[in-house]
Amino acid sequence: MTWGKKIFLITLDGIADRPSKILEGRTPLEVAKTPNLDRLARQGINGLMHPLSPGVPMPTDVAHYLLFGYAPDERPGRSVFEATGYGVTFSPAEVICSTSFALVAPEGNALKIVHRRELGLTPDEGRRCVEAVSRYRTQEFEFELVYTKKHFGILKIRGPASDQITDSDPFYSKLPVVAVQPLDNSVEAAKTAAALNEYLRWTYTVLSKLSDKINMLLTKWPGRHRPLTPFTEKYGMRGLSLSPKELLNGLATYLGLEAVYTGSLYETSQHPLEASLSLALERLDAYDFVHIHDPRPDVISHKKDPTAKITIIEQLDAELEILLHNLRDDWVVCVTTDHVTPTTVGVGKAMHAGEPVPITIWGTHVLQDSCERFSERAAAHGALGLVLGKDFMTILMNYADRLGNYGFRPRPVRNVASYRPTFEQITPLPPPSGD
Ligand SMILES: [Zn+2]
Repeated sequence: MTWGKKIFLITLDGIADRPSKILEGRTPLEVAKTPNLDRLARQGINGLMHPLSPGVPMPTDVAHYLLFGYAPDERPGRSVFEATGYGVTFSPAEVICSTSFALVAPEGNALKIVHRRELGLTPDEGRRCVEAVSRYRTQEFEFELVYTKKHFGILKIRGPASDQITDSDPFYSKLPVVAVQPLDNSVEAAKTAAALNEYLRWTYTVLSKLSDKINMLLTKWPGRHRPLTPFTEKYGMRGLSLSPKELLNGLATYLGLEAVYTGSLYETSQHPLEASLSLALERLDAYDFVHIHDPRPDVISHKKDPTAKITIIEQLDAELEILLHNLRDDWVVCVTTDHVTPTTVGVGKAMHAGEPVPITIWGTHVLQDSCERFSERAAAHGALGLVLGKDFMTILMNYADRLGNYGFRPRPVRNVASYRPTFEQITPLPPPSGD
């Protein structure tokens, strides 16, 4: 057993939005009918949160990594989380990158991106293309490409490699493939960038002869193993994380939570969030901290249709019913999101945006504020105020009665606040041997 209440964290990916003209200045979350989310907000404490710092648009992996209380400068890189999620193993000596195929066309002295998404590759074609460029050697480096799914893969770089290099993927169409450049002044970074550029040019030569759907490999998010304090050691809680995204499974596994892939629920169930919650409830006894991730609001947001987002939000809300039915005094429930994903178009057509996200914390002894709804605007009036991601776990653990007073040092782990340990979580001082 551990001290304190169980913590439920539900991240509804990209549910926060910007006010939209077609919704008369309201956000999809404000327009949607969300009785369950509103009940949690009404019975809980509310606020806004910047996962990192004001105005910075956050990607899903970094935002979740920060919400789990880990420091940005210790981050191993998104490729490490992706590789872990796909079960691609790699050694501490290797630098790895996430990869995707693209269709490019020569234009002057550049290779311009024609398509980098929806390439229509079958898994067989994807695998065959990866095989064709899976091994390459330069004088000092060795490259190995491993297929993951669709047109994606993981590239391992062996040799005197540095992960302090830039992406070759410009992320948008109509831009050229970017030359990989060193991010610091080290010899290793310069050599890695040069060797990777050589390898990437070679993939263009090989793939151009093989496929008419793709002809280039793009790299992004270089990273490598960086040892982190495991979640259980850091917080004294056994953690479970459910997500249909391999990226988040990999992140959870890397941090030491048990990860459950719920992708099949999203393929087979009409109510995948409800099914995920039900699965979490079944396994609850073995855990102190349960994270449930639903990516649907983010996915629909990228289609830039606020009305379709409202429908998804209402569906998610209905699926939360099972949790509200089961609420217990020894739980703390938090609903939030990792970033704002605007459905707005035109000048405001951003991928993700840097406004703060709403956060609701429900618990028996949580001060109820005057918020009646779960929304970006309502949360601005909440008693929690404006919080930063680095304080998020501490806030949840405080409400879960898991913390000792500031300065309490029962274990050699550097946290802002230390948890109250059990007998098993303490290194005992052995009595004198008696001789
Ligand atoms: Zn996200």
